[in-house]
Amino acid sequence: MTHGFETLAIHAGQDPEARTGAVVPPIFQTSTYAQDAVGSPRLGYEYSRSGNPTRDALQECLAAIEGGRRAFAFASGLAAEDTLLRAVLRPGDHVIIPDDAYGGTFRLFAKVAERWGLSWSAVDLTDVDMVRTAMTPHTRMIWVETPTNPLLSIADIAVLAAVAHEREALLVVDNTFASPYLQQPLALGADVVVHSTTKYLGGHSDVVGGALIASDAELIEQIGFHQNAMGAINGPFDAWLTLRGVKTLGVRMDRHCDNAEKIAEYLTRQSAVSQVIYPGLESHPGHDVAAKQMRRYGGMISFRAAGGPEAAERICNSTKLFVLAESLGGVESLIEHPGRMTHASTAGSPLEVPADLVRLSVGIETVDDLLADLEAALR
Ligand SMILES: *Cc1c(COP(=O)(O)O)cnc(C)c1O
Repeated sequence: MTHGFETLAIHAGQDPEARTGAVVPPIFQTSTYAQDAVGSPRLGYEYSRSGNPTRDALQECLAAIEGGRRAFAFASGLAAEDTLLRAVLRPGDHVIIPDDAYGGTFRLFAKVAERWGLSWSAVDLTDVDMVRTAMTPHTRMIWVETPTNPLLSIADIAVLAAVAHEREALLVVDNTFASPYLQQPLALGADVVVHSTTKYLGGHSDVVGGALIASDAELIEQIGFHQNAMGAINGPFDAWLTLRGVKTLGVRMDRHCDNAEKIAEYLTRQSAVSQVIYPGLESHPGHDVAAKQMRRYGGMISFRAAGGPEAAERICNSTKLFVLAESLGGVESLIEHPGRMTHASTAGSPLEVPADLVRLSVGIETVDDLLADLEAALR
Protein backbone atom coordinates (compact mmCIF):
# COMPACT_ATOMS: atom_id res chain seq x y z
CA MET A 1 0.00 0.00 0.00
CA THR A 2 1.32 3.45 -0.81
CA HIS A 3 0.86 6.22 1.71
CA GLY A 4 0.51 9.97 1.45
CA PHE A 5 3.26 12.43 2.29
CA GLU A 6 2.16 13.31 5.83
CA THR A 7 1.63 9.64 6.71
CA LEU A 8 5.16 8.80 5.56
CA ALA A 9 6.61 11.78 7.45
CA ILE A 10 5.02 10.53 10.67
CA HIS A 11 5.42 6.76 10.27
CA ALA A 12 8.23 5.80 7.86
CA GLY A 13 11.14 4.38 9.86
CA GLN A 14 9.18 5.04 13.04
CA ASP A 15 7.42 1.82 14.04
CA PRO A 16 6.98 1.51 17.81
CA GLU A 17 10.24 0.28 19.35
CA ALA A 18 10.36 -3.53 19.54
CA ARG A 19 11.39 -4.05 23.18
CA THR A 20 9.31 -1.43 25.03
CA GLY A 21 6.71 -0.30 22.53
CA ALA A 22 7.96 3.29 22.80
CA VAL A 23 5.92 5.14 20.17
CA VAL A 24 8.72 7.60 19.44
CA PRO A 25 12.06 6.18 18.25
CA PRO A 26 14.42 6.42 21.26
CA ILE A 27 17.67 8.40 21.20
CA PHE A 28 20.25 5.63 21.04
CA GLN A 29 23.01 7.73 22.58
CA THR A 30 25.65 5.02 22.40
CA SER A 31 28.95 4.70 20.56
CA THR A 32 29.09 0.89 20.58
CA TYR A 33 26.94 -2.26 20.87
CA ALA A 34 27.39 -5.55 22.76
CA GLN A 35 28.04 -8.56 20.53
CA ASP A 36 26.72 -12.06 21.32
CA ALA A 37 29.88 -13.73 20.06
CA VAL A 38 32.95 -12.62 18.16
CA GLY A 39 31.72 -11.30 14.83
CA SER A 40 28.00 -11.56 15.73
CA PRO A 41 26.61 -8.10 16.38
CA ARG A 42 22.88 -8.07 17.22
CA LEU A 43 20.82 -6.57 14.40
CA GLY A 44 24.04 -5.62 12.60
CA TYR A 45 24.95 -2.68 14.85
CA GLU A 46 28.67 -2.57 15.77
CA TYR A 47 29.71 1.05 16.14
CA SER A 48 27.70 4.27 15.81
CA ARG A 49 29.74 5.85 13.02
CA SER A 50 28.77 2.84 10.89
CA GLY A 51 25.20 2.52 12.13
CA ASN A 52 22.84 3.88 14.79
CA PRO A 53 19.13 3.07 15.15
CA THR A 54 18.07 6.70 15.68
CA ARG A 55 19.97 7.81 12.59
CA ASP A 56 18.50 4.85 10.70
CA ALA A 57 14.98 5.96 11.64
CA LEU A 58 15.67 9.43 10.24
CA GLN A 59 17.32 8.03 7.12
CA GLU A 60 14.40 5.70 6.41
CA CYS A 61 11.93 8.56 6.83
CA LEU A 62 13.91 10.94 4.58
CA ALA A 63 14.18 8.30 1.85
CA ALA A 64 10.40 7.75 2.00
CA ILE A 65 9.42 11.42 1.82
CA GLU A 66 11.84 12.15 -1.06
CA GLY A 67 10.69 9.05 -2.94
CA GLY A 68 14.22 7.60 -2.91
CA ARG A 69 15.52 4.14 -2.05
CA ARG A 70 18.09 5.25 0.55
CA ALA A 71 18.98 8.35 2.55
CA PHE A 72 22.14 9.17 4.48
CA ALA A 73 22.23 11.72 7.32
CA PHE A 74 25.28 13.91 7.95
CA ALA A 75 26.61 16.39 10.48
CA SER A 76 25.62 19.35 8.28
CA GLY A 77 24.48 20.15 4.76
CA LEU A 78 28.05 20.91 3.76
CA ALA A 79 29.29 17.63 5.26
CA ALA A 80 26.74 15.88 3.03
CA GLU A 81 27.95 17.85 0.00
CA ASP A 82 31.63 17.14 0.72
CA THR A 83 30.93 13.44 1.14
CA LEU A 84 29.03 13.35 -2.15
CA LEU A 85 31.85 15.07 -4.08
CA ARG A 86 34.41 12.58 -2.81
CA ALA A 87 32.11 9.62 -3.37
CA VAL A 88 31.37 10.31 -7.03
CA LEU A 89 34.04 12.67 -8.46
CA ARG A 90 37.74 12.33 -9.28
CA PRO A 91 40.55 14.86 -9.84
CA GLY A 92 40.17 16.25 -13.36
CA ASP A 93 36.37 16.16 -13.28
CA HIS A 94 34.38 19.29 -14.06
CA VAL A 95 31.15 20.42 -12.39
CA ILE A 96 28.51 22.97 -13.45
CA ILE A 97 27.25 24.99 -10.48
CA PRO A 98 24.52 27.66 -10.40
CA ASP A 99 25.77 31.24 -10.77
CA ASP A 100 23.86 32.15 -7.61
CA ALA A 101 24.55 29.02 -5.55
CA TYR A 102 24.35 29.00 -1.76
CA GLY A 103 27.52 30.77 -0.56
CA GLY A 104 28.82 27.76 1.36
CA THR A 105 28.35 25.47 -1.64
CA PHE A 106 30.26 27.94 -3.82
CA ARG A 107 33.06 28.13 -1.21
CA LEU A 108 33.27 24.33 -1.05
CA PHE A 109 33.85 24.15 -4.81
CA ALA A 110 36.03 27.26 -5.18
CA LYS A 111 38.18 27.04 -2.06
CA VAL A 112 38.27 23.36 -1.16
CA ALA A 113 37.44 21.05 -4.07
CA GLU A 114 39.41 23.07 -6.60
CA ARG A 115 42.62 22.42 -4.65
CA TRP A 116 41.88 18.71 -4.96
CA GLY A 117 41.72 18.92 -8.74
CA LEU A 118 38.04 19.60 -9.47
CA SER A 119 37.17 22.38 -11.88
CA TRP A 120 33.83 24.17 -12.01
CA SER A 121 31.88 26.68 -14.06
CA ALA A 122 29.24 28.96 -12.54
CA VAL A 123 26.36 29.12 -15.03
CA ASP A 124 22.87 30.62 -15.15
CA LEU A 125 20.89 27.37 -14.98
CA THR A 126 17.74 29.04 -16.28
CA ASP A 127 19.51 29.22 -19.67
CA VAL A 128 19.75 25.62 -20.92
CA ASP A 129 21.82 26.59 -23.99
CA MET A 130 24.41 28.16 -21.68
CA VAL A 131 24.50 24.98 -19.62
CA ARG A 132 25.09 22.88 -22.76
CA THR A 133 27.83 25.26 -23.92
CA ALA A 134 29.56 25.18 -20.53
CA MET A 135 29.75 21.38 -20.51
CA THR A 136 33.14 19.87 -21.33
CA PRO A 137 34.14 16.24 -22.02
CA HIS A 138 35.09 16.16 -18.30
CA THR A 139 31.75 17.39 -16.94
CA ARG A 140 30.55 14.73 -14.53
CA MET A 141 27.92 16.64 -12.59
CA ILE A 142 25.37 19.43 -12.87
CA TRP A 143 24.63 20.88 -9.44
CA VAL A 144 21.18 22.44 -9.26
CA GLU A 145 19.59 24.58 -6.61
CA THR A 146 15.98 25.54 -7.19
CA PRO A 147 14.78 27.89 -5.87
CA THR A 148 18.26 29.36 -5.41
CA ASN A 149 19.57 31.11 -2.36
CA PRO A 150 19.14 34.10 -2.17
CA LEU A 151 17.86 35.14 -5.62
CA LEU A 152 15.16 32.45 -5.82
CA SER A 153 15.75 31.68 -9.47
CA ILE A 154 14.07 28.54 -10.78
CA ALA A 155 15.81 25.85 -12.80
CA ASP A 156 13.87 23.23 -14.76
CA ILE A 157 14.88 19.97 -13.07
CA ALA A 158 13.47 17.62 -15.72
CA VAL A 159 15.16 19.51 -18.59
CA LEU A 160 18.52 19.68 -16.79
CA ALA A 161 18.31 15.99 -15.91
CA ALA A 162 17.98 15.21 -19.61
CA VAL A 163 20.94 17.49 -20.45
CA ALA A 164 23.10 15.85 -17.78
CA HIS A 165 22.17 12.34 -18.83
CA GLU A 166 22.88 13.02 -22.54
CA ARG A 167 26.51 13.43 -21.46
CA GLU A 168 26.49 10.73 -18.77
CA ALA A 169 26.80 13.34 -16.02
CA LEU A 170 24.92 13.23 -12.72
CA LEU A 171 22.16 15.66 -11.84
CA VAL A 172 22.33 16.69 -8.19
CA VAL A 173 19.56 18.86 -6.72
CA ASP A 174 19.92 20.82 -3.49
CA ASN A 175 16.27 20.67 -2.38
CA THR A 176 16.77 22.64 0.84
CA PHE A 177 14.62 25.64 -0.12
CA ALA A 178 11.63 23.71 -1.41
CA SER A 179 11.70 20.69 0.94
CA PRO A 180 10.31 17.36 -0.31
CA TYR A 181 6.78 18.53 0.52
CA LEU A 182 6.93 21.10 -2.27
CA GLN A 183 9.25 19.41 -4.78
CA GLN A 184 10.51 15.88 -5.44
CA PRO A 185 13.59 16.01 -7.67
CA LEU A 186 14.19 12.24 -7.95
CA ALA A 187 10.80 11.82 -9.63
CA LEU A 188 11.83 14.55 -12.10
CA GLY A 189 15.02 12.70 -13.07
CA ALA A 190 17.61 13.85 -10.52
CA ASP A 191 20.20 11.28 -9.42
CA VAL A 192 20.92 12.66 -5.94
CA VAL A 193 19.01 15.03 -3.65
CA VAL A 194 20.97 17.11 -1.14
CA HIS A 195 19.51 18.73 1.97
CA SER A 196 20.61 21.02 4.68
CA THR A 197 18.22 19.46 7.22
CA THR A 198 19.12 22.48 9.39
CA LYS A 199 16.43 24.35 7.46
CA TYR A 200 12.83 23.25 6.74
CA LEU A 201 13.26 19.55 7.56
CA GLY A 202 14.44 20.26 11.12
CA GLY A 203 12.21 23.31 11.04
CA HIS A 204 12.84 24.72 14.53
CA SER A 205 16.30 26.32 14.25
CA ASP A 206 17.64 24.02 16.95
CA VAL A 207 19.80 21.53 15.05
CA VAL A 208 22.38 21.44 12.23
CA GLY A 209 22.38 18.51 9.81
CA GLY A 210 22.44 17.37 6.21
CA ALA A 211 21.29 14.51 4.03
CA LEU A 212 21.79 12.79 0.68
CA ILE A 213 19.03 10.74 -0.95
CA ALA A 214 19.44 8.48 -4.00
CA SER A 215 17.82 5.52 -5.72
CA ASP A 216 20.55 4.07 -7.96
CA ALA A 217 22.23 1.02 -6.38
CA GLU A 218 25.77 2.03 -7.33
CA LEU A 219 25.33 5.58 -6.00
CA ILE A 220 23.86 4.21 -2.77
CA GLU A 221 26.84 1.91 -2.39
CA GLN A 222 29.38 4.72 -3.01
CA ILE A 223 27.66 7.21 -0.70
CA GLY A 224 27.16 4.63 2.06
CA PHE A 225 30.82 3.62 1.92
CA HIS A 226 31.96 7.26 2.13
CA GLN A 227 29.52 8.14 4.92
CA ASN A 228 31.28 5.54 7.07
CA ALA A 229 34.79 6.05 5.68
CA MET A 230 34.74 9.85 6.03
CA GLY A 231 32.68 9.84 9.23
CA ALA A 232 30.77 13.13 8.95
CA ILE A 233 27.67 11.50 10.45
CA ASN A 234 24.57 12.97 12.07
CA GLY A 235 24.58 12.27 15.84
CA PRO A 236 21.72 10.40 17.56
CA PHE A 237 20.25 13.42 19.37
CA ASP A 238 20.46 15.56 16.23
CA ALA A 239 18.81 12.78 14.21
CA TRP A 240 16.03 12.57 16.81
CA LEU A 241 15.40 16.32 16.76
CA THR A 242 15.33 16.34 12.96
CA LEU A 243 12.91 13.41 12.87
CA ARG A 244 10.62 15.25 15.30
CA GLY A 245 10.70 18.25 12.97
CA VAL A 246 9.96 16.19 9.86
CA LYS A 247 6.67 14.91 11.33
CA THR A 248 5.10 18.37 10.93
CA LEU A 249 6.82 19.35 7.66
CA GLY A 250 3.62 19.29 5.59
CA VAL A 251 1.53 21.48 7.91
CA ARG A 252 4.44 23.85 8.52
CA MET A 253 5.17 24.26 4.80
CA ASP A 254 1.55 25.05 4.02
CA ARG A 255 1.58 27.84 6.62
CA HIS A 256 5.01 29.10 5.46
CA CYS A 257 3.53 29.32 1.94
CA ASP A 258 0.27 30.99 3.08
CA ASN A 259 2.22 33.67 4.96
CA ALA A 260 4.85 34.18 2.25
CA GLU A 261 2.21 34.60 -0.48
CA LYS A 262 0.50 37.36 1.52
CA ILE A 263 3.78 39.09 2.39
CA ALA A 264 5.12 38.95 -1.18
CA GLU A 265 1.91 40.48 -2.47
CA TYR A 266 2.09 43.21 0.23
CA LEU A 267 5.72 44.03 -0.63
CA THR A 268 4.87 44.54 -4.32
CA ARG A 269 2.73 47.51 -3.23
CA GLN A 270 5.44 49.28 -1.13
CA SER A 271 7.33 52.27 -2.52
CA ALA A 272 10.31 51.43 -0.26
CA VAL A 273 10.71 48.20 -2.27
CA SER A 274 11.99 48.32 -5.85
CA GLN A 275 11.65 44.60 -6.67
CA VAL A 276 10.06 41.58 -5.01
CA ILE A 277 11.52 38.18 -5.85
CA TYR A 278 9.12 35.33 -5.08
CA PRO A 279 8.45 32.42 -7.45
CA GLY A 280 4.74 32.55 -6.63
CA LEU A 281 4.40 35.99 -8.24
CA GLU A 282 3.45 35.93 -11.92
CA SER A 283 6.12 38.62 -12.47
CA HIS A 284 8.83 36.09 -11.51
CA PRO A 285 10.61 34.83 -14.66
CA GLY A 286 10.60 31.25 -13.33
CA HIS A 287 6.95 31.24 -12.27
CA ASP A 288 5.75 28.81 -14.96
CA VAL A 289 8.54 26.31 -14.34
CA ALA A 290 7.94 26.58 -10.58
CA ALA A 291 4.23 25.96 -11.13
CA LYS A 292 5.09 22.84 -13.13
CA GLN A 293 7.53 21.26 -10.68
CA MET A 294 6.50 22.61 -7.25
CA ARG A 295 3.33 22.07 -5.22
CA ARG A 296 3.53 25.67 -3.91
CA TYR A 297 6.21 28.36 -3.86
CA GLY A 298 7.84 28.18 -0.44
CA GLY A 299 8.53 30.49 2.47
CA MET A 300 11.53 32.45 1.17
CA ILE A 301 11.21 35.96 -0.26
CA SER A 302 13.96 38.32 -1.37
CA PHE A 303 13.45 41.99 -2.18
CA ARG A 304 15.52 44.99 -3.17
CA ALA A 305 15.33 48.20 -1.15
CA ALA A 306 14.45 51.24 -3.26
CA GLY A 307 16.76 53.34 -1.08
CA GLY A 308 19.83 51.25 -1.90
CA PRO A 309 22.29 49.32 0.29
CA GLU A 310 21.95 51.56 3.38
CA ALA A 311 18.18 51.30 3.25
CA ALA A 312 18.47 47.50 2.97
CA GLU A 313 20.63 47.39 6.09
CA ARG A 314 18.33 49.78 7.93
CA ILE A 315 15.32 47.56 7.20
CA CYS A 316 17.24 44.50 8.46
CA ASN A 317 18.15 46.37 11.65
CA SER A 318 14.59 47.63 12.26
CA THR A 319 12.27 44.62 12.36
CA LYS A 320 11.24 43.22 15.75
CA LEU A 321 9.46 39.94 15.01
CA PHE A 322 11.65 39.14 12.01
CA VAL A 323 14.88 38.29 13.86
CA LEU A 324 18.10 39.46 12.23
CA ALA A 325 19.91 36.15 11.72
CA GLU A 326 21.41 33.81 9.14
CA SER A 327 19.80 30.48 8.30
CA LEU A 328 16.17 29.87 7.34
CA GLY A 329 13.32 27.42 7.39
CA GLY A 330 12.41 27.58 11.08
CA VAL A 331 8.98 28.36 12.53
CA GLU A 332 10.17 31.87 13.45
CA SER A 333 10.60 34.58 10.83
CA LEU A 334 14.13 35.75 10.04
CA ILE A 335 15.53 38.68 8.06
CA GLU A 336 19.05 39.10 6.73
CA HIS A 337 21.32 41.03 4.39
CA PRO A 338 22.87 38.38 2.09
CA GLY A 339 25.65 40.65 0.78
CA ARG A 340 27.11 41.18 4.24
CA MET A 341 25.92 37.99 5.98
CA THR A 342 25.21 34.60 4.34
CA HIS A 343 26.80 35.46 1.00
CA ALA A 344 29.74 37.64 2.10
CA SER A 345 32.11 34.90 0.84
CA THR A 346 30.90 35.49 -2.75
CA ALA A 347 32.11 39.14 -2.82
CA GLY A 348 34.16 39.85 -5.95
CA SER A 349 33.15 36.51 -7.55
CA PRO A 350 30.63 35.87 -10.35
CA LEU A 351 28.19 34.92 -7.59
CA GLU A 352 28.21 38.29 -5.81
CA VAL A 353 24.68 39.35 -4.76
CA PRO A 354 23.20 42.89 -5.01
CA ALA A 355 24.01 45.09 -1.98
CA ASP A 356 20.40 46.35 -1.74
CA LEU A 357 19.02 42.81 -1.35
CA VAL A 358 17.09 41.72 1.77
CA ARG A 359 16.13 38.08 2.35
CA LEU A 360 13.16 36.95 4.42
CA SER A 361 12.57 33.51 5.82
CA VAL A 362 8.86 33.81 6.50
CA GLY A 363 7.86 31.86 9.60
CA ILE A 364 4.50 30.53 10.72
CA GLU A 365 3.53 33.33 13.11
CA THR A 366 0.21 35.20 12.73
CA VAL A 367 0.58 36.85 9.34
CA ASP A 368 -0.95 40.19 10.38
CA ASP A 369 1.76 40.57 13.03
CA LEU A 370 4.45 39.89 10.41
CA LEU A 371 2.90 42.44 8.03
CA ALA A 372 2.77 45.07 10.80
CA ASP A 373 6.43 44.41 11.64
CA LEU A 374 7.47 44.93 8.01
CA GLU A 375 5.24 47.97 7.68
CA ALA A 376 7.06 49.64 10.61
CA ALA A 377 10.51 48.69 9.32
CA LEU A 378 9.87 49.96 5.78
CA ARG A 379 8.59 53.33 6.98
C1 LIG B 1 22.24 26.10 4.60
C2 LIG B 1 22.35 25.57 3.24
C3 LIG B 1 23.34 24.63 2.90
C4 LIG B 1 24.42 24.20 3.87
O1 LIG B 1 23.91 23.48 4.94
P1 LIG B 1 24.56 23.49 6.43
O2 LIG B 1 23.63 22.62 7.19
O3 LIG B 1 24.58 24.92 6.89
O4 LIG B 1 25.94 22.95 6.30
C5 LIG B 1 23.34 24.13 1.61
N1 LIG B 1 22.43 24.53 0.70
C6 LIG B 1 21.48 25.44 0.98
C7 LIG B 1 20.51 25.83 -0.08
C8 LIG B 1 21.40 25.99 2.25
O5 LIG B 1 20.46 26.90 2.52
